[in-house]
Amino acid sequence: MKSRTGLDRTRTRQWRPATQAIRGGTMRSDFGETSEALFLTSGFCYDSAEEVAARFRGEADGFTYSRQGNPTVAMFEERLALLEGAEMARATGTGMAAMTAALLCQLKAGDHVVAARAMFGSCRWLVDSLLPRYGIETTVVDGRDNDAWARARRPNTRVFFLETPANPTLDICDLKAVADLAHDAGARLVVDNVFATPILQRPLELGADVIAYSATKHIDGQGRVLGGAICCTREFDTEYLFPFFRHTGCVMAPFNAWVLLKGLETLELRVRRMSDNAARIADFLAERVPTLLYPGRPDFAQHALAMAQMSAGGTIMSFLLDGGEAQAFALLNALELIDISNNIGDSRSLATHPASTTHKALAPAVQAELGITPGMIRLSVGLEDPADLIADLDQALKAAGL
Ligand SMILES: *Cc1c(COP(=O)(O)O)cnc(C)c1O
Repeated sequence: MKSRTGLDRTRTRQWRPATQAIRGGTMRSDFGETSEALFLTSGFCYDSAEEVAARFRGEADGFTYSRQGNPTVAMFEERLALLEGAEMARATGTGMAAMTAALLCQLKAGDHVVAARAMFGSCRWLVDSLLPRYGIETTVVDGRDNDAWARARRPNTRVFFLETPANPTLDICDLKAVADLAHDAGARLVVDNVFATPILQRPLELGADVIAYSATKHIDGQGRVLGGAICCTREFDTEYLFPFFRHTGCVMAPFNAWVLLKGLETLELRVRRMSDNAARIADFLAERVPTLLYPGRPDFAQHALAMAQMSAGGTIMSFLLDGGEAQAFALLNALELIDISNNIGDSRSLATHPASTTHKALAPAVQAELGITPGMIRLSVGLEDPADLIADLDQALKAAGL
């Protein structure tokens, strides 16, 4: 296999992001294919017994089994690592597999984790239900409050875990300050960077240690496949992540990696345009709904912090209606163009009611504490013409009595 652009990492690291997105990680076979090949194979064959023995000893390059590594998956991992500015990445079957592996690979019974309370519902389940089952203590804090992170630290704290902006309230955590607090306590900061994407926010540069993604969202961005990824240092991988990966098998399928490689090629273009569209829609909605939560607008409580660590307001907003679930449902049901869907980061604009869908598993009191009201709608803005999206929202708002 000719690694024309794949393996000379000093060279690819110097490329600018637009070049990395198209060419980063490419490994060409002897056929000289233009687009990346899909290696839909579970195993590999060797020229000799000595060759495979050398690979198993780690002394020769090459693949041995797709649970340990696959060329198409490796191309996706290298391209994402380049875009993230990370030493390396490993791809998982789903975003939740990435979150679970990023935490469990480095934790053991007796350790303590501090997590932001506002996060994706399944991530909260990991913190509240899964980790304690294995003797790992967890504390949830208001992620916006740096003092709360500081107070929650204990001698056995090993990991800080957060998502910023958080789903669905768009709460922002101060990445630099929280990373410093984690490091002072001898803990690592794990960041779920799904909402911001590597295009709008680079947590490693602010001190985060491990970045986890759902590639299902913006990285695919066209509603096709599930996937996830973890970005980290080689040292972290060798010590914690790779042993966990190879033995638990939470890997990405080659077909999904191939789809997601194509997604990375256009990620920057899509995220920038979607974020521009979102900014226009936010300006429209701000005049029409009682409360709008969009980090890109000056009326957002944490606007200054959001803009200090993100290069745009993002593709997602939430708004709160006073008429509770009835009014929220009336608006959703009146939408003609925007789909009712609990996904995000898609080229199609999607709206959902978090209280009855993505965050349904949380008790009403926890929902209330997080600010997830019965009248909340989350909107993920896509690539359609924003004028058409605004017209659709306008008629749906009217149908809901607004
Ligand atoms: C969707 C999502 C996940 C989980 O990803 P899957 O690919 O659905 O498993 C985790 N965190 C956030 C913020 C998400 O939006």
